[in-house]
Amino acid sequence: MMKLVILGGGESGIGAARLGSRLGHAVFLSDSGPLTGGARHALEEMQVEFEEGGHDARRVMQADLVVKSPGIPDTLPLVVSLRAAGVEVISEIEFAGRHTDAAMYCITGSNGKTTTTLLLYHLLRRGGLDVGLAGNVGHSLAARVATDPHAAYVVELSSFQLDGMSRFHCDTAILTNITPDHLDRYGGRFERYVDSKFRVLQNARPRDLFIYGTDCDAVRERVSRTRIVPRAARFTCHDDPGQDAWMSGDRLLARHEGRLFSIDRREISIQGRHNMYNAQAAVLAAMKAGVGDDDLRRGLATFPPVEHRLERVAVVNGVTYINDSKATNVDSALYALESVPPPVIWIAGGTDKGNDYAALKALAREKVKLLVCMGVDNARLSREFSGTTEVVDTRGLDEAMAVVAARVVPGDTVLLSPCCASFDLFRNYEDRGRQFKEKVMNLTRQDNGRDH
Ligand code: ADP
Repeated sequence: MMKLVILGGGESGIGAARLGSRLGHAVFLSDSGPLTGGARHALEEMQVEFEEGGHDARRVMQADLVVKSPGIPDTLPLVVSLRAAGVEVISEIEFAGRHTDAAMYCITGSNGKTTTTLLLYHLLRRGGLDVGLAGNVGHSLAARVATDPHAAYVVELSSFQLDGMSRFHCDTAILTNITPDHLDRYGGRFERYVDSKFRVLQNARPRDLFIYGTDCDAVRERVSRTRIVPRAARFTCHDDPGQDAWMSGDRLLARHEGRLFSIDRREISIQGRHNMYNAQAAVLAAMKAGVGDDDLRRGLATFPPVEHRLERVAVVNGVTYINDSKATNVDSALYALESVPPPVIWIAGGTDKGNDYAALKALAREKVKLLVCMGVDNARLSREFSGTTEVVDTRGLDEAMAVVAARVVPGDTVLLSPCCASFDLFRNYEDRGRQFKEKVMNLTRQDNGRDH
């Protein structure tokens, strides 16, 4: 019997355990930290053996195959020893891919993955396809394959998942863009991070489709010196009908195998230049899947906004509050600042991943009236932006919101777009976004309670 060891008991680990036990493997799950109650319960129900709070290295080393959580770095000594001993260590997506023939629509990139994934899923469903949703969006592909099989899947892939993939094959691969992120996990080397993203093309066949954004320098540069096996579909926000999707005034156009689709950008539910890119990529993939024009149009109009991504929370006393907590890197914050109307009170900060803020300064100078730094250590952010705009230091959300309250006037936009990770003050970006929204909703209640 195959001995399958799973490292990490998060969503992907539990999903891998589900598939492993369905396949009749002897499954053992090991997590260095505590498991959630839900995870423990699921494992007990599946009768999968597990440990938490540390790895029993001897037992782990007996594995025939190891599925590793994307959160565990390749440099972990146990992972290094496994590989040195010739044990294959793969990601949960790779494991799932070995046990299904479903068509895979895969989305990767530094920003826009979740939005593009959910939008493509929405369009394919409207088009009547038998499709499932999986990957980084919060559903394990292995669990889907084990318990909820579909003819096709839309899968969001992070670079960490791609790193653990070798035989997996994407029928359609979307690369939204590549900008510096997670460099802490790639030894500070951008090239290695780019390599990782381009793994989405490994095993590609000539009839597959590779959809990528040509307005992104890093993507264009790498494509120019790579032999691309599948067909390519390129998208741009310039008026360039030589590409497969482009903009012409307010119209978004896309062409696939001689068929032309076009829509007014104002009919699309998500706004901002970055979202035009996401829409172009999703439309090109959906056209390949055969989704008709009416379904594309209806789908683009009805796509619900994604939480924590430039999410308009409320307008209180003429002030618009926007939650963009998912903006955990510089490029996403750049699009946020580009999209929102000035004057902006910008709440930013958190765990700096080695950011280069230069690109943000011109926009900050033009649109931001006040930068509220919110973090345990704001020294770097304050230093970078003082001289560009007014900067105030705060240590947490309460203090940040008090500064905002003292300074807002009707017509302002208050934007939470931290361009940093959240782990210094919050559990994760969702927690940060929800706490912010709660504070804003409290303001709404105070406003409603007041006599006008
Ligand atoms: P990801 O899953 O890659 O992190 P999301 O769709 O969750 O991407 O968006 C993350 C952040 O990036 C949000 O702040 C969002 O507004 C911004 N964003 C979305 N699409 C793009 C894009 N194509 N280019 C740059 N930023 C984007």
